[in-house]
Amino acid sequence: MIITRFAPSPTGYLHIGGLRTALYNYLWARRNGGKFLLRIEDTDLKRNSIEAAQAIEEAFKWTGLSYEGEVVYQSQRFDLYKEYVQKLLDKNQAYYCYMSKEELDALREEQTARKERPRYNGKYRDFKGTPPAGIEPVVRIKAPLSGEIAFKDGVKGNISFKAEDILDDFIIARSDGTPTYNFTVVIDDALMGITDIIRGDDHLSNTPKQIVLYEALGFNMPKFFHVPMINNPQGKKLSKRDGAIDVMEYKSQGYLSEALLNFLVRLGWSHGDQEIFSLEEMIKFFNPNDINASASSYNQQKLEWLNAHYIKNAAAKRLWREALDFGLDMREDKNAEMLADMLRERAKTTVQFVQMAKNIIDEPLSYDAQAVEKFAAPSSAAYLKNYAEFLKNNSGDFESLTNEFLEKNTIKLKEIAQLVRIALTGSSVSPSIFEVMNIVGLKAVLSRLEKFIDFLEKGK
Ligand code: GLU
Repeated sequence: MIITRFAPSPTGYLHIGGLRTALYNYLWARRNGGKFLLRIEDTDLKRNSIEAAQAIEEAFKWTGLSYEGEVVYQSQRFDLYKEYVQKLLDKNQAYYCYMSKEELDALREEQTARKERPRYNGKYRDFKGTPPAGIEPVVRIKAPLSGEIAFKDGVKGNISFKAEDILDDFIIARSDGTPTYNFTVVIDDALMGITDIIRGDDHLSNTPKQIVLYEALGFNMPKFFHVPMINNPQGKKLSKRDGAIDVMEYKSQGYLSEALLNFLVRLGWSHGDQEIFSLEEMIKFFNPNDINASASSYNQQKLEWLNAHYIKNAAAKRLWREALDFGLDMREDKNAEMLADMLRERAKTTVQFVQMAKNIIDEPLSYDAQAVEKFAAPSSAAYLKNYAEFLKNNSGDFESLTNEFLEKNTIKLKEIAQLVRIALTGSSVSPSIFEVMNIVGLKAVLSRLEKFIDFLEKGK
């Protein structure tokens, strides 16, 4: 069975790079009928916060990425890590190192002066004597000091490191007994049964160390997939300005989660030239072996395009559910469906959608001065008065009543349409005036017309 995981360190919010990694792991597990697990790597008690862990779970909830079982918190597993450190000590694959900080610093200085890579010199690797007093030892792994550490990366192909270039007997437990980063990752991945690790290629340099630990512990080696970063359109590291923001910020900016997931799946992976993927299709087609080996670049227009697509195709109920978060409750409104149908083609974001809806539902508080200037003539108030009277005294739907009125008075629709539009919504850009009228109803139409007539008369 394929078991994947997402293992964020809760140092801040979840950003889109993280969400993409989570998505890839999620899709791969789902495609194979496997499991997707969530592990919070919170051993760095100074830098991690519970709020950050909650923010990650909140983002998961919003995007609908579900994981199996309970979230694993590394901070609750220190006893387990200790147990495995002890196992390695017992098997003589790890050892206590009593080198003092001063000694280590001096060693590093000498090596740097000789233009060598700073590394631990193995002093306590096979130490049999009496340890120096007053030093709390660290635990180091006996790493291979020559030869190659090679593995096949599912994205990058064959990777090999020369042990002597990158390794030394690195620390697995600090002098206070706490385990180091790579050690906890390996213990957890192995005990959680992770078979496939899909993660950012900023972790590539950790992989040889992790491989050394897998071998020492006799665990099965997972498959690794190192995903290149997301760059900005200029090919540089993505900054906050480019979109490296909290995933939940996309929600507040009016993006639907399905648009964001679709956007992210394509940043670094493709399936022919298909652009639109439902979650089901992503699950059907995603394969981490097809992840691009080169960095992808963030494209805001693409995201907006996808978002508009998903809004256009979303059920009215779905859109009104989003609108709740922006302070608009249309769930009980009998015209909700009609209003959504009217707006979904025009809105690129849910924020715009809600704003457009409010512009129609709420009586305008002011009128766009430029539009008034452009469309109002001295005779406008009189025309509108007649029109309002006509609507009041006749029955029929707004469109045929209006046509009757126009015919009777030999005027053309375009002569009053913009004025009516301004009266109804405050602006000269809105959907069809008849649709707006149907939504708000006769009473509101008349009251809005009267207010505008009043405004025109006072203004002239
Ligand atoms: N905790 C690491 C991070 O936040 C991920 C480690 C991994 O995926 O192996 O980037």
